[in-house]
Amino acid sequence: MQKWNLVFDIASCTGCHNCTIAVQDEYVGNDFPGYAAEMPRHGHRWVEIERCERGRHPAVDLAYMFRACQHCDDPPCLRAAHTDAVRKRPDGIVVIDPQRARGQKQIVDACPYHAVVWNEGLQLPQHWNFDAHLIDAGWNAPRPVQACPTGALRALKVTDDEMGRVAAAEGLERLEMNRICRPRVYYRNLYRVTRVFAGGTLLTNRDGMETCVAGARVRLLRRGDVVGEARSDSFGDFRFDALDPFSGEYRIEVTADGCHDYVATFELGESHWLGEIRLDAA
Ligand code: SF4
Ligand code: SF4
Repeated sequence: MQKWNLVFDIASCTGCHNCTIAVQDEYVGNDFPGYAAEMPRHGHRWVEIERCERGRHPAVDLAYMFRACQHCDDPPCLRAAHTDAVRKRPDGIVVIDPQRARGQKQIVDACPYHAVVWNEGLQLPQHWNFDAHLIDAGWNAPRPVQACPTGALRALKVTDDEMGRVAAAEGLERLEMNRICRPRVYYRNLYRVTRVFAGGTLLTNRDGMETCVAGARVRLLRRGDVVGEARSDSFGDFRFDALDPFSGEYRIEVTADGCHDYVATFELGESHWLGEIRLDAA
C-alpha cells in the first residue's frame, strides 16, 4: 500500500517561509468540516520554519528547520485522544477531528514534537494535517510543497519498502524518538541542526608577510583513530562537520609544505572554532 511521506532537505531551504504562509493562506478564515476548523489569524503556525545557528563569529553556520506534524505511524496524540478524535488514515496521514477533539487539551501535551497548537477560542487542538482535504480532492502534493521555490520539500506517496530504499539512498534521517513514534517526515542533511563542527584558519609568515596556508592536510583524531581528513582552502580555513556534540577530546594534526607540523588538542562541546593557527615556517 502506498502512503504519504514528506522529505525536507535542510541544505536547500532558504528560510523564505513560503510554506508557512501557504498553510496560513489555506486555513485562516477557512473551515474544512471533517478535516480542520479554521486557523486563528494570529498566534498559530501549524508549519514552522525554525532558524538554527551553529558556531560563533567568525565561523557561523545558519540553517532552517521544518517543524510540523510528523504524521507518525504510532502517534502518541492518537493514544491520548478520546472518542476517536484522532484518526490514522490508511494513506499515512494523521487527522485531528475538528468536532470530536473539542476540549481535549491532552492531545496538545501528548505530541512529543510540539506539533499540536491549542485554539483557545474553539477549545480545540489543531495541527497541519498534510492538507488532507486537498489530497482527497486529487492534489498530488500539499500546499507547502507546491509553494516551496527551491525543492527543499518533497511529498512522496510510495510503499514503506520504497520509502526505506529512498531514505537509505539519500541518507535521510528522522527526528529523535523515531523508533517509538515512527514519523513519516524525513530530513536530509539533518546534521546541520543536530550535530556540530570544528575548524580553524591556518596562517604562516613568509618573507615577513602573514599568509594564509592553502592546501594543508589536516587530520582529526579521537581516541587515536582518524575520524576525518580535510584540506585547507584558499583562505587557510578547514572544517570538520557532523561531529557529535559534547563528544570529548579531539586532536588535530596539520601538515603543510614549507611549514613545521602542528598538533593541538581540544575539547568538543558545541561547534568549536580553533581560531587563527600560526604554523612556523620550515
Ligand atoms: S507529530 Fe504529534 S500530532 Fe503529529 S502524528 Fe505525531 S504525535 Fe500526533
Ligand atoms: S518554502 Fe521551501 S525554501 Fe521556503 S522556508 Fe519553506 S521549505 Fe524552506
